[in-house]
Amino acid sequence: MKLTAENMDLKLRHTFTIARSSSDYANNVLLRVRDGKHEGLGEAAPQRYYGQNQDGCRRTLERMAPFLKDPDPFDLERVLDGLAKKFPKEPSARAAVDLALHDLIGQKTGLPLWKYWGLDRAKTPQTSFTIGIDTLEKVRAKVEEAQRFPVLKIKLGVQGDMEIIKEVRKLCPKKTLRVDANCGWSVKDAIAKAKILEKLGIEFIEQPVPPGQNAKLKRIQEKIGLPLMADESSLVPEDLPPLRGCVKCINIKLVKCGGLRAALKMVHTARSCGFKIMVGCMIESSVLITAAAQLTPLVDYADLDGNILISDDPYDGVKLDKHAKLLLPDRPGLGVRAR
Ligand SMILES: [Mg+2]
Repeated sequence: MKLTAENMDLKLRHTFTIARSSSDYANNVLLRVRDGKHEGLGEAAPQRYYGQNQDGCRRTLERMAPFLKDPDPFDLERVLDGLAKKFPKEPSARAAVDLALHDLIGQKTGLPLWKYWGLDRAKTPQTSFTIGIDTLEKVRAKVEEAQRFPVLKIKLGVQGDMEIIKEVRKLCPKKTLRVDANCGWSVKDAIAKAKILEKLGIEFIEQPVPPGQNAKLKRIQEKIGLPLMADESSLVPEDLPPLRGCVKCINIKLVKCGGLRAALKMVHTARSCGFKIMVGCMIESSVLITAAAQLTPLVDYADLDGNILISDDPYDGVKLDKHAKLLLPDRPGLGVRAR
């Protein structure tokens, strides 16, 4: 199999701000893996927060080429385990390879991934649409723009964030609202803010405090009525058992865990721990988003809007119905094609 990686810069429709950072572009990497007449597509979304960047990620992918020399994409376990051992800190690059191999399997068998896995695509959830941190005036405009989405995820975790969420609730009294503090609160903040959020009818609170502090999550969860969801604290399957009693839900992302195969393992681990599950994303093109969507018949919530937050998605894949429910494509593999 022959591997080619290239930089893929995606432009955001609006500057995207969360508690710790702000960006106008997502600097991702597109991967093609060719095996004879078939080509599989993958994508990496390197994250500065996890010590990754675009050029480093592309070079890592090039260094992964020897692992793909034998032409058998069905040999997922051996290839991906080998990569995990050799490149433990590069889950985003490994996810790109994992996606491309799954896509190749689909091209070779003629089956869409959800069908290959035996999933019921009628069971996909709605996706939420994310509103980044901004001035009240801009938040109002973004909420207006997001009219077609019945579920919104509001980024919080900064000073004055209760004003933001109160304003959003006023603008859309009937919508399902979720919030994500992206590690921006203390235990005290989180407990106080959760009282307000509960009154506003929020569905759940994502990642109030930084990762590596499960005891703090536990203290918060024990004091509040709303469920907590772990995101930065739940990267890989091994993170889940210690989170029992600390949160009620977990957020799985392909670029955190290393791809679809690890994500499936995470789904099953999460279920055995009794967690509700969301599949989420970074700022990503339809390659990563459509791959993640293939898992969603297995989960409770989806937050797969990375491809909607950009203005120049080079790929076409998963679609939404009028209630923002994810519609999985019929095409083989990931089901994506160039626009
Ligand atoms: Mg999050």
